[in-house]
Parts: sequence; structure tokens; C-alpha cells
Amino acid sequence: MATPTHLTCLCALIYEPASLLSSSALPFKCCICHCNTCRRTTGALGTWYAILKGRPSDKSMSNTTAYKTSEKYTRFFCKQCGCNVFVRSERDGRWLACAGIVEIDDKQTENGTRDEKNLNVAQVEFHEYVGDARDGGFAPYLTRLGGKNVPCFASEPDDGAGQMSEAELLELKDQGRDTVSDERGEMMDVACHCGGVQLHIAPPAHNEKSEGWYVPQDRSKYSARLCCCRSCRLTLGFSLQPWTYIPPAHIFTKQGELVLFGPRAKDTVQIVKLKHYQSSDSVLRSFCSTCGATVFFQSFERPDVIDLSVGVVRSRADNARVEEWLQWDRNEVSMRHEAVDCELVEAWLGG
Ligand SMILES: [Zn+2]
Ligand SMILES: [Zn+2]
Ligand SMILES: [Zn+2]
Ligand SMILES: [Zn+2]
Repeated sequence: MATPTHLTCLCALIYEPASLLSSSALPFKCCICHCNTCRRTTGALGTWYAILKGRPSDKSMSNTTAYKTSEKYTRFFCKQCGCNVFVRSERDGRWLACAGIVEIDDKQTENGTRDEKNLNVAQVEFHEYVGDARDGGFAPYLTRLGGKNVPCFASEPDDGAGQMSEAELLELKDQGRDTVSDERGEMMDVACHCGGVQLHIAPPAHNEKSEGWYVPQDRSKYSARLCCCRSCRLTLGFSLQPWTYIPPAHIFTKQGELVLFGPRAKDTVQIVKLKHYQSSDSVLRSFCSTCGATVFFQSFERPDVIDLSVGVVRSRADNARVEEWLQWDRNEVSMRHEAVDCELVEAWLGG
């Protein structure tokens, strides 16, 4: 069994002992929220949280930026690396940690290798706000976890909205897949929750001769995939990072300028709210400095493609998976060997 060791963001300006968690037993029970606000403030497709005993330390809190999304919640992210870290419920004063920042001692098996099948930090009990997106986001694929059925609710389970039926969930899986191009708009639009980062993505220019891992079978779309790596987890705040892969020549600012990428990007102010964090010699990650949404990952070693976080894509059809523009790779996830929520990964790949 894995045990939590501490809570941290990638740059470690946010650092708390595992004793801050209300329960040290793993997996901890939670629900995944698929609401528009959670997606657009983080860049994730869904968010889930661990309950804390109280407020994190002054030292950690002094390194966060607060973003109040409603009368109910204030969200906090690391001001340096952009990781979503904490949420305070204004209704009851409770503190929550974004589940992905919980680090574990996962070398618990005798030979020191990970117990991949059984490693789960979170135990998802239900899905909420599945009705916020027309396609239900990735919830319809995560309805059977660890041999148990996991109910989906259009909003909160206790507001009378009721549980979604199997037939409804099946329908959500098809939503957006066959949308023809005039319905999707001329450009794929991107905006974080606060609107500080807005982009337009031109349609793909793949042709029959295009090749490469990021060219999907359907040449009219961009490919998309989940990444399970530790550094994505510790900059997003959640263990499943949805990326779509876009050539830089297709990424424009709201004003129609080409977005600047490469090593110079971090020293150039082009989109005022877009803040960069260089996590290694060749990797630059970018997020909104007002609302904390993860926006880009770029590796200078593969300059031909930029990773864009799918949670900030705004579908004209209100889809969260945005299948009118994106073709999801559900044959694999990136960096599966670093996954910490294996039930979710298996459900996504098999469901
Ligand atoms: Zn940080
Ligand atoms: Zn939410
Ligand atoms: Zn990653
Ligand atoms: Zn923003």
C-alpha cells in the first residue's frame, strides 16, 4: 500500500507535510468535478480534491495567488510554477488540496517496483457537474472503476438533478465526433477562466503524406492524449493532464499575431497574463497568472509541436472533449509508468 509523504507543487515553493491531510489512508474517497469553472481555471478535464485538516502554512500560502471564482470557492495556485494547489470553501471554511499534489511513497513492494495495477491515490465515488459540457467530458469513460459502477450526476448529487442513465452516458460518448467543420467554427478558440489568455488555433494542415506521432488518422483534427507524468501532475495539480498537439505556426493571439515559442518566449511579453516556468533546460510550461489555468507545455527539443491543455479550449458546441476538433488517443496515455491513479487510466483506455 502506498502512503502519502507530503504535498508539493513542481517548483516546491508549496510544500506541506502529509499530516495536513485529514486522512493518511490511501486511496482517499472523492468525487470528480467536471464543471466549466474547474476546467477553465485549471486546464484539466476534471478535478478532484483531498480534504485538509486546516489552512496550509503561511509559508506555502505566501507563495500562492488567490483566485475567487464565486461566493462559494477561492482557488489558490503556485505563483511560480502555476500548479493548482488548494481550494477554500467559503461556505464552511474547509480547505481542500488538489489531489495531484499529494506525493506518495510508491516503492512499497518488496523488489522496489511500483504496484501499477493497485496504485490509486484517489477513490472516485461519483462524478458531478457532468451536465456542464454537452459531451460530459471524460466522465462517460470513467463510470466503472475498480469493478464498481460510479454514478454520474448532471450537477450535484443532492440538488434533485438525479443520476444520469446508461443510455444518456452512451449518447455523451458520441457527442461532437461527427460534427462537420462549419459547425466547429473557422478557428479553435482558447480562453482560460478569467479570459486573460485567449488564443485562436488555425485548423490542421496535415495531408496524406503527414507523419509523426501527433498526426491523427482523421487529418481534419488535432490529436489529443492524457499524460500521467509526475511533472505534468505537479504543474496541473491533477494526475491526468489532457494535451492536444499543435504546430506553433497555427497558434495565434486574440489580435491575430503568431504566438512566440522557443527559448525566447520566457523573456518576451506578448500575452501579458501568460506566465512561464522553465522546469528544465529544454522545457517551458506556461499558465495564466490571474486564474492559474495551465496553457502550454513546450520542449525546445521538439519545436515542431506545442502541447495545449484541453481544459481551456472553448468549444462552440459546449463540448469538453472537443471532438469536433480533436481526435483522442485512447490506445495509450503518455508516461503510464508514472501514473498514480491507475483505475482512472485503465477505465479511460478500456471504457
Ligand atoms: Zn510551484
Ligand atoms: Zn467544479
Ligand atoms: Zn507529462
Ligand atoms: Zn486566466
